Amino acid sequence: MAKRVVVVGAGISGLTCAYRLQRSGLDVIVLESSDVVGGVIQTDNEHGFLCEVGPNSFQGTPEVFDLIREIGLEGELVTADSRLARYIFHRGKLHPAPMGPGALLSTKLLSLRAKLKLFREPWVRPYQGASEESLAGFVCRRFGPEALRNLVAPFVSGVYAGDPRCLSARSAFPMLVEFEEKYGSVLRGFIRSVRKTPKPRRSRSLCSFVKGLHTLPRVLAEKIGAERVLLGARVRGMRPSEGTQIGAYTLRIQRGGENYELGADVVVLATSAYRAAELAQTLSLTLERELAAVEYPPLAGICVAYKKGAVPHPLQGFGFLVPRDEGVRLLGCIWSSSLFPGRAPEGYVLLSIFIGGSVDPEVASLSDHQVIEAVTQDLRTTLGVQIAPRVLTLNRYGHAIPQYGLGHEARLSRIKGELQKLPGVFLAGNYLRGISIGDCIKHSTLMANRLIHHGDTEGTEAHGVGL
Ligand SMILES: Cc1cc2nc3c(=O)[nH]c(=O)nc-3n(C[C@H](O)[C@H](O)[C@H](O)COP(=O)(O)OP(=O)(O)OC[C@H]3O[C@@H](n4cnc5c(N)ncnc54)[C@H](O)[C@@H]3O)c2cc1C
Repeated sequence: MAKRVVVVGAGISGLTCAYRLQRSGLDVIVLESSDVVGGVIQTDNEHGFLCEVGPNSFQGTPEVFDLIREIGLEGELVTADSRLARYIFHRGKLHPAPMGPGALLSTKLLSLRAKLKLFREPWVRPYQGASEESLAGFVCRRFGPEALRNLVAPFVSGVYAGDPRCLSARSAFPMLVEFEEKYGSVLRGFIRSVRKTPKPRRSRSLCSFVKGLHTLPRVLAEKIGAERVLLGARVRGMRPSEGTQIGAYTLRIQRGGENYELGADVVVLATSAYRAAELAQTLSLTLERELAAVEYPPLAGICVAYKKGAVPHPLQGFGFLVPRDEGVRLLGCIWSSSLFPGRAPEGYVLLSIFIGGSVDPEVASLSDHQVIEAVTQDLRTTLGVQIAPRVLTLNRYGHAIPQYGLGHEARLSRIKGELQKLPGVFLAGNYLRGISIGDCIKHSTLMANRLIHHGDTEGTEAHGVGL
């Protein structure tokens, strides 16, 4: 009889994993507590606007394109050029973020002194310290404090909603540390890697779908089968099975006001770390503690619209990011209607704004009205719009994006060690090895493949996290 695998969580990690396991012939059931699949990937249609409530786009990587091709979504794909200008707000103006050596020379985001420091980077000695280096420490050491403040920190806000002083350089941006270790310089490593990548570099495209990002989880769930993806099914707890119970683990599920129990040979926890911690309680207190310690700052995401004529800026590009201490609270603004077609009705523009994160956790205590006020004020300052926007969606995250803080790698090792004592329990999700949609797909696929190819549901090689 096929092994019964229960995947908890129908975000992109859980669905990718479930899809791969099911294709290999395993008996898979997905349990999702909310009434819709996709986790943080949600698209809303509001009065003719296509609003991405969570992520706005994903980077096309080989693993993502493979999945899209397999589930027949190629025809739905829309791409934007990843070389679209990104802007950074500095001293009252939007400046294009420098994307190459020439632009670094001419950018107004850095002083002459900072530029000189930047171009001396290939001669900076590799890190000699004994303790793990923060991202801020790494960037300051190699590129200087201005590059950190005006270029890297805003980018970190855009990706992690994070604080570079608290993130681990090695865990949050492993490629930077790898370049230093391998080539003795980030710039040298970057140039080598660009030379090595064959053209055309389709993988650098930013992608979405005609009807928005939710298309991906929706179609994945359809492929798995509605009868196998149970919505509104919250897993309240799990424990090792006893005596004659089916499967190695018994899950306690609440659905439609009723409580059920379900046996599983293999359980993949594909939730956020803090939810996985709740479920790990009855299995291992160490595992629970390690998972609960992953930090997630609060964040608010807002989609707003204006009539085109109301915005003095041409909005040609991806959008803009804001360094701290520029008198603007929002972290960044994506010009959604400039990125992909069909996002706004004719004559309107659609913007997605993020506010909060590790550098501004107080946003969690603001009312919706105060958040909208702050955004309106900031759009006046940055884009020169004089009127209040039409607010289409406002989404609050108590726990938004996991922070790969100092000690992240050591935590993953301890988690792996604990999982070795729990045969048949696996973890997948964005708090392990990369937060982007592409990373979630890649690592869930790797995890599923290891589980399939080692035929290992009892435990040897395939053990553990989506590592
Ligand atoms: C605001 C925001 C913007 C982002 N922007 C981008 C972007 O532009 N590009 C990009 O590549 N990435 C972006 N990301 C990151 C990326 O979207 C996420 O890392 C990824 O989608 C997470 O997927 P996941 O499946 O690991 O987790 P989730 O999406 O969190 O899914 C976990 C699922 O588990 C369910 N669940 C939890 N507990 C239980 C339980 N007890 N029982 C049953 N079900 C349970 C939840 O309801 C949820 O559906 C963004 C993230 C956020 C939050």
